[in-house]
Amino acid sequence: MNINNRIHAINAVAARLPESPAAEIKPDASIRTYGIDAFGEKAIARYLTKPTAAKLLAVARDHAPLDASIADEVADGMRRWAMEMGATHFTHWFQPLTGGTAEKHNSFLEPAGPARAIQAFSGKNLIGGEADASSLPSGGLRSTFEARGYTAWDPTSPAFIKRHANGATLCIPTAFCSHTGDALDSKTPLLRSMQALSKALKRLMAHFGQPDAPVSVTLGAEQEYFLVDRCFYMQRPDLLQTGRTVFGAAPAKHQQLDDHYYGAIRPRVLKFMTEVEEQLWRLGIPAKTRHNEAAPAQFELAPIFEDLNLAVDHNMLIMETLHRTAERNGFECLLHEKPFAGVNGSGKHCNWSIAYGGRNLLEPGANPKENAIFLTILLAVIRAIDLHADMLRASTAGAGNDHRLGGNEAPPAILSIFLGDELGAVMKAIETGTSWAASGRTRLKIGVDTLPPLPRDTTDRNRTSPFAFTGNKFEFRAPGASQNCAQNQMVLNTIVAESLDALSDKLDAMPGDFNANLQKLLQRLIRAHKRVLFAGDGYSAAWQKEAAARGLPNLPDTLSAIAPLKNPANQALFEKYGVLTGAEMESRYEIALGAYERRVRIEGGVSLEMARAMIRPVVADEFSKLATAISIAKKDGLKVGVTGLRALSLKLGAGLDDLHVKCERLERALAKGGPRAQIAAMAALRHTVDALEHLVDDARWPLPKYREMLFIY
Ligand code: ADP
Ligand code: MG
Repeated sequence: MNINNRIHAINAVAARLPESPAAEIKPDASIRTYGIDAFGEKAIARYLTKPTAAKLLAVARDHAPLDASIADEVADGMRRWAMEMGATHFTHWFQPLTGGTAEKHNSFLEPAGPARAIQAFSGKNLIGGEADASSLPSGGLRSTFEARGYTAWDPTSPAFIKRHANGATLCIPTAFCSHTGDALDSKTPLLRSMQALSKALKRLMAHFGQPDAPVSVTLGAEQEYFLVDRCFYMQRPDLLQTGRTVFGAAPAKHQQLDDHYYGAIRPRVLKFMTEVEEQLWRLGIPAKTRHNEAAPAQFELAPIFEDLNLAVDHNMLIMETLHRTAERNGFECLLHEKPFAGVNGSGKHCNWSIAYGGRNLLEPGANPKENAIFLTILLAVIRAIDLHADMLRASTAGAGNDHRLGGNEAPPAILSIFLGDELGAVMKAIETGTSWAASGRTRLKIGVDTLPPLPRDTTDRNRTSPFAFTGNKFEFRAPGASQNCAQNQMVLNTIVAESLDALSDKLDAMPGDFNANLQKLLQRLIRAHKRVLFAGDGYSAAWQKEAAARGLPNLPDTLSAIAPLKNPANQALFEKYGVLTGAEMESRYEIALGAYERRVRIEGGVSLEMARAMIRPVVADEFSKLATAISIAKKDGLKVGVTGLRALSLKLGAGLDDLHVKCERLERALAKGGPRAQIAAMAALRHTVDALEHLVDDARWPLPKYREMLFIY
């Protein structure tokens, strides 16, 4: 037998020349090039007149309403800037409900006579676009005879340049909706939810006597990913088609020694990372942190937090940049939530906070009034999570993320909040009206006493908690690495808006001393919602039991997790806040369900094909060789070796039979079963294939093994 493709791949990866440090290091230019690929403040000042620039910046910075009369001038300035950057085309860039981004390019060039052309880009081109969107998911919102979709410029997110080998494209961030105005994307409801939260917060702040001020919701999204050499990737149909390995026995060593997390980054990976950062910085994306993650070949990139809408767009660009740059470096970047069984999966921790007039409200304050606001916002969030955990869970559902949430790893599908020891003690003190241990003094009076500074990050960070307070923000750890953050942030904003309004309603109805009322209200809130607070081990079986006793929902897979989208009370809530109509929520349910069913079916199909066409021939061949050897040995009357041959042939033969049975079962499940039956059949087949991986001659095993994909790069 010829040397197989897998062995070729190993040799090809091993032969890659190690990167040696450049003989001469160029001085770092990133300070000068930061943001030059975005139509930001610098470009705006250069290409627009002063009054227009001021108007546009007010829209971008303070979300002031757009004055349509500036569109033509902005468009012209943008085009001149983009063309100077090498752009020949423009596109509206949007986030349809496929989970990714979409673009449809148009050239600036327009014929203006038989042999004459001009470059044109009008205000109309900038502000709105029409796209035949019949092949993008609409979940029944758009009938086929009305296949048009509309894109609308989002001036709060700067246009940017995307480069390719022969030039560049001007990309204009847009929202995407149907002709009836229904949202068909992730951005539209996100923007609506930011408005709802802003309105509710302003109302509550008035109770505290705070003057009207701009609200900003902030997001810092930590992006986890895997890198696999493309030589291996190309030999894995499962990675190519589904983004995850449907087979693969656990290697003896994977992440048990904790020797990858924060380990020294290999030169080849660093080269990749610096190329990613260079492009992100040019786009004005504040990439800040890079490190090795827990699993072998797993990494993280974290930017500095930004305004939510911008942070979401930037995260989409981060994912795209990771993919593109990986390919250029001979890697494939895997953003699937669980590319490899048995080692950590990849999440996208969404760090979220709200600022009012530039002050972060989740930062414990320096005086009694600020503390009162801090504690009130904190409790509003706690209440929101307790009452609407189902919707937040729904926002993280998906075939990939099911392997993390509700799988055998973190965080669990049950939503709970970790506050840390200090803040936990503060909650207890407010609830019981007893003295607060850390102060060692009298009972805490809201609005009168100051909290001593809460030391940040002193307590165990409790990595098992899906929703953790981390000193001045909440870190939501359930979202999956491949998911658009807008999905969960839109829900978070809406349920917190509802909570803030509920508090305002209560305060409105309480006459008399404000501080005393607030104290009473917070006390009641803690009593009512403390069941969602949990500081223990979120992975333990004991927590599953306790959470059930506390009445917390546990929605382990996508089918159960998306059901809350159809709940009339949830639909009424999102409708009330103008974030999603009932019909839009129904459509999102349909889209999520369809995507889930299709993805599971594709995985099933890939599993079956690989098992039958790649694994079975090798096992059958090896078995028949053994059988021949045994009969020859018997004929020749050999005294030794026969026992060993027979034992192995029995195992291989049983494996071969088993493989047949499991393939038939999966085939039946794909023909008539639902996703749960298909997943169970795939798991059973995987069990058989992974056992065979340890029996079959290593030199003939056709699929790159875990020990190779995870360690040779
Ligand atoms: P860790 O891995 O320890 O959780 P990182 O430094 O990797 O922390 O990521 C923390 C993220 O939280 C960063 O993106 C950071 O900018 C972000 N962050 C910090 N303060 C805020 C805030 N007020 N609002 C939103 N995100 C924040
Ligand atoms: Mg981190």
